[in-house]
Amino acid sequence: MELTNLTIKKANEGLKNKQFSAVELTKSIFERIEKFESKIDAFLLLTKELAKKQAEKTDLLISENQSLNTLMGIPVAIKDVIVTKGIKTTAGSKILADFIPPYSATIYESLENAGTVLIGKTNLDEFAMGGSTENSAFKVTKNPWDVRRVPGGSSGGSAAAVSAEMCIYALGTDTGGSIRQPASFCGVVGIKPTYGRVSRYGLIAMASSLDQIGPITKTVEDAALVLNVISGWDKRDSTSVDLEVPDYTKFLTGNVRGVKIGVPGEFFGSGVDKSVKETTETALKRLEQLGAKIVEVSLPRSKEALAVYYLIMPSEASSNLARYDGVRFGNERETFGSEVKRRIMLGTYALSSGYYDAYYLKAAKVRSLIQKEFAEVFKTVDLIASPTSPVLPFKIGERVDNPLQMYLADVLTVPANLAGLPGISIPCGLAQELPVGLQLIGDHWQEGSILNMAYTYEQNFLFSEKPKL
Ligand code: GLN
Repeated sequence: MELTNLTIKKANEGLKNKQFSAVELTKSIFERIEKFESKIDAFLLLTKELAKKQAEKTDLLISENQSLNTLMGIPVAIKDVIVTKGIKTTAGSKILADFIPPYSATIYESLENAGTVLIGKTNLDEFAMGGSTENSAFKVTKNPWDVRRVPGGSSGGSAAAVSAEMCIYALGTDTGGSIRQPASFCGVVGIKPTYGRVSRYGLIAMASSLDQIGPITKTVEDAALVLNVISGWDKRDSTSVDLEVPDYTKFLTGNVRGVKIGVPGEFFGSGVDKSVKETTETALKRLEQLGAKIVEVSLPRSKEALAVYYLIMPSEASSNLARYDGVRFGNERETFGSEVKRRIMLGTYALSSGYYDAYYLKAAKVRSLIQKEFAEVFKTVDLIASPTSPVLPFKIGERVDNPLQMYLADVLTVPANLAGLPGISIPCGLAQELPVGLQLIGDHWQEGSILNMAYTYEQNFLFSEKPKL
C-alpha cells in the first residue's frame, strides 16, 4: 500500500483500522523525502527523531484502543515562520539562522495536542516576503510540476512538500496570498481563513493586520479537518476573535444549487494570462452546471488594492522588523536580504513625517473603501470567484530582478487580505501542463461556504493529475 499519497482522512481511517501504524506512515514519508527532497528543496529542517517519537505515541494509543483524533499520527510540514519550542525557526533569514524559540506558537501547541507528527520546517521567502521562495536566504524551492519553475511563495516549501507527497498536509501563512498562490502553483488546496479566525501568537510577524495562518492540503475535506483544529480564540492574540468554531466538515454537503457566485470583471482583466483566464472560466461554467448562479459584479477599487497593499504591508513590516536589532533578536553578524531591506525602506518612508499623510494614511483610507466595496457586493452574492494568480508558475530567475513584476503576481490575492476575508485556492485544471488555481473568496467567517463550493467542484471534477517527479 502506497502511504505517502494518502489524504488526512484516508490516513486516519487506515490508522484506525490498523492497516498500517503511525511509525510506518512516518517512515514512508521520510523515504519519499530521501528520494525527492534533493530535487525539490522544500525543507529547511527535518525533525526525524521527534517525528518517530510522536508517531510511537500515536501507535501506543492505537494499541490501547483509545479513540483517535483526526490529526493523530498524521505527518505535517510547517512553514518555518511559525515558532516551535526547542526547534530551530529561521523565517528563511540569516538574521534568525540560529534561533531556537523558547516557546511554541499556539497553533503548533494545538497540533501537538491533537497528536500530529512534525516532519520538518519548510522553506519560504525571507520573513514571508515574496511570491516564489527565491527570497529565502537558504535555498530556492522547486515546483514539483517542473523543477525549472518556482513553487510560488512565500509558503512555497509547504505547497511543494504537499504536492510532492513529502508530508500529508502542511501549514502556510498568508499576508497577501502566500497560502493561495503557492497552492495554485503546486496544484494543491490552500485556504486563508478570515482575519482573526486563527491565532497569530508565535507567528513571526510580517504585517500584523494582514497575516493569517492556514492549511495547505491535498483535498478540501482535509482543509476543513485542519481548520477544525487550528481555529479559535486565543487570549494571547488580541486580534483573534471569540466566535464559536463550527465543525467545518458539516458544510461539505456537495450541494451548491442556487448559491450566487460573483465574478468581478476586474479580476479577469488584461494582466491575466489567456490560458489562466480560459481554465478559470471553464471552472466557472462547471460550477454553473452544478447549479450555482454566476453573477457579474464589479469591484472597481480592487485596482488600487496592490498599491494599497504595498504601502500598508511594508509600513507594518518595517516596524515589526525593528526587533531584529541584535539586542532583542537577531544575529549581529548577518544582514537582511535585499527584498527585506527594500520593504523596510519603503515602509519607513511611507510612515515618515511629511509623507505619512500622503502614503500610509491615504492607503489606510483606500483600504476601508475596499472593505466597504466587498461588503456591498456580499449583499448580492454569496461568494466571489477569480483566478488565484494571474500567471502560471514562472521560471526560476525570471522575475527576481524585477520586484515590480513580482509584486504584480499578487494582484488577485491581496484584496482578500486587505478586507480580512477568507479565501481558498483549489486546482481547477492544467494549462501548458501546469496547474491553475481557482480562488473563492467569502464574506467574513464564511469559510464554510467557500469550502462547500470548493468541495462540490472537487467531487464532480476531480483534479487527479499529479506532478511527474
Ligand atoms: N507575495 C506577497 C508579498 O510578497 C505575499 C506575501 C505573503 O503573503 N506572505 O508580499
